[in-house]
Amino acid sequence: MIIYKPVCVGCGRCHPYCPAHAIYFEDMKSAVDQDLCYECGNCLRVEVCPVDAIAESPHVYEYPRAVRKYFSDPNATHAVTGIQGRGTEESKTNDVTLRCGPGEVGIGIEVGRPTLGMGLEDIQKITRALARNGITEIEKNNPIHSMIKDPKTGDLKPELLNEKVLSAIIEIQVKRDRLRDVLRTVKEVAREVDSVFTLDVYTMLEPKLTIPKKVLDIIESEGFSWRPNAKINMGLGRASDQD
Ligand code: SF4
Ligand code: SF4
Repeated sequence: MIIYKPVCVGCGRCHPYCPAHAIYFEDMKSAVDQDLCYECGNCLRVEVCPVDAIAESPHVYEYPRAVRKYFSDPNATHAVTGIQGRGTEESKTNDVTLRCGPGEVGIGIEVGRPTLGMGLEDIQKITRALARNGITEIEKNNPIHSMIKDPKTGDLKPELLNEKVLSAIIEIQVKRDRLRDVLRTVKEVAREVDSVFTLDVYTMLEPKLTIPKKVLDIIESEGFSWRPNAKINMGLGRASDQD
């Protein structure tokens, strides 16, 4: 984001809306620290500037900076997935896609939300830790999949490492037996990552709409608390008839 200095009247109204504390005063006007800015668009979207001094940077869609916008601006359509947002629609469409089948769990490792963000180096710490534990398959429709340079090591493409994003989700699918390994891996690597985590565990329900006990037992025995959450896009497709 940029602020046109000759137009800005230095009122400071935009400052509290920046989650990155990237807007600062300079010569009685405001300016944006381009290194800190996530390109989230919040300062523009809230429409608090009385003189329209805030504008999108002409470089916002240039690679690799564009990842800031794709991951941080909820209105941006991601160039890789073609959908808005940081992840995919796994839980909402699983009854049709059956991406996460019986006996499997989908795991979403959400980092950075709310408003803390992180550098992509932190994402690499997580993808490397997963790879060390044999989890090298990031969901192919997830934007992070295309950012990986070497799936065997979990290394990201080097040009991305100086970028930062407001939040990201690493999505994987594993057999239920591997859920424990993933939870332990995330707990371990969380010590090295300077941000906040939320873990999503997706599973198909069992008869009578119960959550599989095995999944809950693993979550609880690894010291995590859980909160049920269902998201289904009703009526958007024919449910899969696979077992
Ligand atoms: S785009 Fe977002 S991060 Fe950048 S200055 Fe505006 S509010 Fe702050
Ligand atoms: S709201 Fe507009 S005029 Fe006020 S400090 Fe921000 S950019 Fe400048």
